[in-house]
Amino acid sequence: MTISSVSLRLTGARLIDGTGAGPVPDAELHVDEDGRILFAGPAAHAPVVAATVTRDLGGRTLLPGFIDAHVHLGFDSGNGPFHDLTTDPVQVVFETGRRLEQTLHAGVTTARDLAGLTLGHKAAVEQGLVAGPRLHTAVRIMSHTGGHSDFHLPGGHVKYHVSASDEIADTVDEVRTATRRLLRDGADVIKVCTTGGMSSPHDQPTDEGITADEIRAIRDEVDRHGGRPIAAHAQGTSGILAALRGGVDSVEHAYGIDDEGIDLAGENGTFLVPTLSTVFTPLVKERMRPFHYEKKVRWVEITRVNIARAIERGARFAMGTDSGICAHGRNLAELSHLVELGMSPMDALRAGTAHAAELLRVDDRLGTLEAGKIADFVVADVDPLTDISALGSPENVVVVAKAGRIVKDLLVSERVPVGA
Ligand SMILES: [Zn+2]
Repeated sequence: MTISSVSLRLTGARLIDGTGAGPVPDAELHVDEDGRILFAGPAAHAPVVAATVTRDLGGRTLLPGFIDAHVHLGFDSGNGPFHDLTTDPVQVVFETGRRLEQTLHAGVTTARDLAGLTLGHKAAVEQGLVAGPRLHTAVRIMSHTGGHSDFHLPGGHVKYHVSASDEIADTVDEVRTATRRLLRDGADVIKVCTTGGMSSPHDQPTDEGITADEIRAIRDEVDRHGGRPIAAHAQGTSGILAALRGGVDSVEHAYGIDDEGIDLAGENGTFLVPTLSTVFTPLVKERMRPFHYEKKVRWVEITRVNIARAIERGARFAMGTDSGICAHGRNLAELSHLVELGMSPMDALRAGTAHAAELLRVDDRLGTLEAGKIADFVVADVDPLTDISALGSPENVVVVAKAGRIVKDLLVSERVPVGA
């Protein structure tokens, strides 16, 4: 009998594979040299293999690497809006590198940056120049003049975001051209603002932005170029409905979603990404601009009620934190916020794995631990099904691996020697 060889074999795992199936108590995971999963399942069914490295997880929980569908790695919530203007650009790059690593070490092996991060960071991660999650990026945010991504200061003279993450377009023709520019510049996702927002000085979350007709033109344009998801920043009720009628793939924030919106999202298979980490982060009034503070206070309660109702009514969710607006490196705390509003822990785990992978259109290779998929995984020192909030503390995420390569390891002292 020939014994096949694998590069990594995990034993003694309690496997939650991301498909929604219950935990497998004594499981193994086998990974080949290319970082692909050869086997994930009960130890009793595991093939006999010769492994280059074997690790015994001692009954700890093995999960797919998580996917945060809404981050801003180019921003740091601890910095004011003028930080980038007053800091040497090289320092800004290193600061961003640290945030990438923090995010990876929090258990996020794939992140979708919905603007603010320059494309070079994605290339740097791909080339191994910096440790970070694999990245999808929107490059810039599309909105109307005076909309959520119009960063002109009052008076209209200068912009306050040096990262130039704005893409202004005002008509059906202009959004087509803007979409072409974004595709040219490497966008993996087109982000549009169908409402105003919290952090923008000129508008309210209830203001409407990009229209349903404009979204249809964007869809036509991206479909002529291989297709991409469209993510709508949408907070007020009418703008959420415009996004859903236009046919976006995800409604980001969705704070003001009503029953009509929940029904439409259900019919279209649209994901909600409610970014509760940002909503429920305690506000520090002294460090916020007054207009921002007032808007946030008003919307916390609205969000709690509407998102709980969407969960109750069976809407589809993908995990997204808006890290950058809230703190980086505690991404999995989002799962406990979803559970607080009524979601089951298993559904919350799927929102952060299989469902987020589906939203990013990478579910053929990521999001679950199944044979043939890329071996992105995390090991938790806690049971997320009984204490999901503990996952939000990075010290409880003891191992993180991307494509079969272990990139964080707090179990080093337990390492079993090769061949043991
Ligand atoms: Zn955002």
